[in-house]
Amino acid sequence: MTVHIGVIGAGMIGQDHIRRITDVVTGADVVAVTDVDTARSQEVASGVNARALSTGHDVINDQLVDAVVVTSWGPTHAEYVLGAIEAGKYVFCEKPLATTAEDCLRIVEAEQAFGRRLVQVGFMRRYDAGYRAMKQVLDSGEIGAPLMMHCAHRNASSPESYHSDMAVQDTAVHEFDIIRWLLAEDIVSAQVIKPRKTSRRFEHLQDPQFMLFETASGVRVDLEVFVNCQYGYDIQCETVGETGTVRLPDPADVWVRGAGQLRTGVLQDWKQRFAAAFDREFVEWVASIEDGRLAGPSAWDGYATAVISDATTEALHSGRVVSVDLKDRPAFYGS
Ligand code: NAP
Repeated sequence: MTVHIGVIGAGMIGQDHIRRITDVVTGADVVAVTDVDTARSQEVASGVNARALSTGHDVINDQLVDAVVVTSWGPTHAEYVLGAIEAGKYVFCEKPLATTAEDCLRIVEAEQAFGRRLVQVGFMRRYDAGYRAMKQVLDSGEIGAPLMMHCAHRNASSPESYHSDMAVQDTAVHEFDIIRWLLAEDIVSAQVIKPRKTSRRFEHLQDPQFMLFETASGVRVDLEVFVNCQYGYDIQCETVGETGTVRLPDPADVWVRGAGQLRTGVLQDWKQRFAAAFDREFVEWVASIEDGRLAGPSAWDGYATAVISDATTEALHSGRVVSVDLKDRPAFYGS
């Protein structure tokens, strides 16, 4: 079986996913593409022998399209995901699922009304080999009950358009998902502490930010978000349990000994760091469509991260500890 995919949004990550579906994934092809920039959608579509269609809804309702990938601008996501559910089609939506928690809930409700899972959200870290190995250790009980987690999310630099809320909503959002997934429980409160600002930032930006979270069972998580660290793209995570610790491995690179030094490289961007995770994410998404059973990050996960994001943004502005108030998780999304 070949899963025929329609892509809405042929920007940076949309083009990357189109290449991935075409070159990496077996059992799938891209048959339709749209973008608000019609010249771009035509160029991208012709590169993979797909058709360029006028709108996202044309893609969703196209007879040849079995499944939809939404990689357009965030504020358009909810409309397209709801459209795909209405058409009864599988939909992979890049984060965020929607830009408000209310819209995420509308999606959750629409999917439940449809009666089975159709939506997957693009939290690709769950497909990273290091995070998966860490989850295996945690689930095995080898280090006992988790007590604390230390995370860091560092980028070499950020553009002038990047503002303080984006450190929460665009950057830390990946940690919100991976913390919930690794610990298999929800975050219940958020706090943001503002350290001394780096001089190597645009004036308006609070950078770094130090975020503190508490989970339902009382695990304490600290997350440093530092988006002008200068030296590279660096993702760190360590969980401390009752009888041991588990730490995310650094990406493999050679160690060079010479001239009295020992050195290794640091990756420079997220595309390199998570390239294999993105590939695996699409391979498994397509396989789960073939099986008729989606297993990746759900619309509920998209909703939960939106609520954590809102609480953390409020914490950034107020300086207070803000509670994360999720609705009760529907049985539809498992335990
Ligand atoms: P981008 O390069 O700006 O691409 C967005 C594309 O969607 C642009 O081509 C844009 O056209 C187009 N678009 C906007 N509105 C549209 C509409 N109504 N219908 C169809 N196409 C529309 O942005 P990007 O970096 O690829 O990001 C896209 C999404 O992926 C964002 O939600 C982002 O958060 C997410 N993302 C996720 C990750 C991850 O780590 N998982 C990484 C990067 C991005 P114009 O350029 O003409 O506006």
